[in-house]
Amino acid sequence: MPRRTIRRPTELTGVGLHTGADVRLRIAPGPSGSGLRFRRTDRPGAGELPATLASVGATDRRTVLGQGDDRVETVEHLLAALGAHGVDDALLELAGPEVPILDGSFAPFWDVVAAAGLVEGPGCRRRWEVLGPFELAEGDATYRVSPAGDLALAVTLVHAEPVIGRQRADYRGAPGEFAREIAPARTYGFLAEVEALRARGLLAGATSEAAIVLSDTAPLNTSLRWPEEFARHKLGDLLGDLALLGGPLRARVEAERPSHRGNVACARAIAARGRFVEEE
Ligand SMILES: [Zn+2]
Repeated sequence: MPRRTIRRPTELTGVGLHTGADVRLRIAPGPSGSGLRFRRTDRPGAGELPATLASVGATDRRTVLGQGDDRVETVEHLLAALGAHGVDDALLELAGPEVPILDGSFAPFWDVVAAAGLVEGPGCRRRWEVLGPFELAEGDATYRVSPAGDLALAVTLVHAEPVIGRQRADYRGAPGEFAREIAPARTYGFLAEVEALRARGLLAGATSEAAIVLSDTAPLNTSLRWPEEFARHKLGDLLGDLALLGGPLRARVEAERPSHRGNVACARAIAARGRFVEEE
């Protein structure tokens, strides 16, 4: 299977959810074999930051790559869209510390990559396979991983609050499935959490257009795109965090109450137990 990159550069501009910084993201073709790499264009001399597990700096509410002033925050929605498009190589230039949140979903990233188009390059794509089933727990999150010929993800959320309750989303990577069933699902938070997160310096860029804000019983600022929009969003987050493996995953992953910390632990367990093979 040849490697894929984006056909021509494309751009997006918006505000970072946690930092509140206005930022421009440029997605450009990458040399075959380079993988997905971030570059902070507002920090001259900063090196490229590969979107890999080795780069993960923090997993508190969002996935952060790198450390200190050269970090890149909230990479998961962009990486999910690139992973769903099957992009192996791209340069992700960011003129600030955080990928823009936009409408809180994956769709704006999916759409600009779709509009720019994809092109195949030299070299061979490699994929991850797991050799046997295993389970993993990280805090409240649990993961069951088993061998499969293709990707299959299932996410179950279990919340005491009736607005979410127990809900599930499934994904099998069929053509058009991500754009139709996952990409429009938005990030969300409970109103009660918002002040606590703000006190910790997060959510500086949160507006009512960037996330679903919830009471225990109802969305407060918008109507839902699906009753289980929350599980669909968390499934997209899982796909984005699994993209840090550096190649497509051919396995079944069933996640209950997933978190970014758990997703990264799951990806690390796959890398430790699986094999990374050239895809015919
Ligand atoms: Zn998310």
